Amino acid sequence: MLGRELRGELDAFLAETEQDLVAFRRDLHMHPELAFAEYRTTARIGERLSAMGLHPWVLPRGTGLFCEIGSGDGPTIGLRADIDALALSDEKSVPYRSTVPGICHACGHDVHTTILVGAAGFLARQAAQGQLPGRVRLIFQPAEEMPGGALEVMAQGGITGLDRIFGLHCDPRVPVGQVGLKAGPITSACDKVVIKVSGPGGHTARPHLTADLVFALAKILTELPAALSRRIDPRSSLSLVWGKVQAGSAANAIPDVGYAEGTVRCLDENAWHAAPDLIKALLESVAGAYGVEAALDYTRGVPPVVNDEASVEMLSQAAERVLGLGSVVSTQQSLGGEDFAWYLESIPGAFARLGTRGTGSDGDFDIHQGTFDIDESAIAQGVRLMSAVALTALWEGRGPDAEQESIIEPMAELI
Ligand SMILES: [Zn+2]
Ligand SMILES: [Zn+2]
Repeated sequence: MLGRELRGELDAFLAETEQDLVAFRRDLHMHPELAFAEYRTTARIGERLSAMGLHPWVLPRGTGLFCEIGSGDGPTIGLRADIDALALSDEKSVPYRSTVPGICHACGHDVHTTILVGAAGFLARQAAQGQLPGRVRLIFQPAEEMPGGALEVMAQGGITGLDRIFGLHCDPRVPVGQVGLKAGPITSACDKVVIKVSGPGGHTARPHLTADLVFALAKILTELPAALSRRIDPRSSLSLVWGKVQAGSAANAIPDVGYAEGTVRCLDENAWHAAPDLIKALLESVAGAYGVEAALDYTRGVPPVVNDEASVEMLSQAAERVLGLGSVVSTQQSLGGEDFAWYLESIPGAFARLGTRGTGSDGDFDIHQGTFDIDESAIAQGVRLMSAVALTALWEGRGPDAEQESIIEPMAELI
């Protein structure tokens, strides 16, 4: 199918369905649910998919679903939406305001969910017409905000057998109709570090006869970040910053235990993988110099989302074909975390930033704020993008023999 035909078919599909999709998003928005409690949301998605003649499979915990469209030997492409809301009060005065006190879809996951339901409708229609050259697996992932949902999806075999996966996120800084893309890392890693230092304790008059634990802890607090900055490539922007320190109870007693807690943030995947072992080795060496014992509790958050270059190219081609030339803009790596990163540790794929800022909007909206909202025409744009990228990846994944039927067409034809 040529790009022009695809645009026409998507336009016709959305002329029929856009209003209904907006209503679906508003229903989800009015009934937000927190991570791993998305029972109503899961039921609503399931009803929609079943009505399309599809066969959704609900994850064992009862929240989140998988659903495959198409059959046959072609590649299998994953499309992922996250479905959970945030523990924030909805501060908007709109008819579709959250009806649940203290919970709000302030990260736009209601929008991502609706877009994937819309894309499911279009792709199911394509499959029924014999136009789907492979399979598309829809992943409605619970608990992105926790996080933990992506790992649950993977534990249930959600990405097993996928050749490639795509996802998107609302971006209130990008105008509606545009898509922010970037190859390589696009979000950041954030982990938690807890250190426990212990020694025999004693009188402050005789530090040489014991281990001066507070002094050693102070050295650890300053030496660890300093040594890391010399042991890890500065371009990774790895930072260890302490947020909590605790030791001792009297001015003249050396305590026998002390604690430090902080976060490790990092832009680079290699540095993120290296960080725990390096921090452990540095900690042992500083603690050993002062005769104290030190234990490290390192809790992984999420790695950075690292976009695969070929997948970004597919998103870019898809966007230009169905959203128009000039719809692709470059985007920056953010310091936020996103658990889509776990999928990209195993399979290639890419994550896009969908413009949701309306014309005339001052652009001050941000996600994770009670005032966050979108220009709802972004829903149709998201359906166009997700449908087109799935088809693009399916055709490309079929290899050189499929070239003749590919939706890839020369740019000149589009102008
Ligand atoms: Zn969020
Ligand atoms: Zn989010």
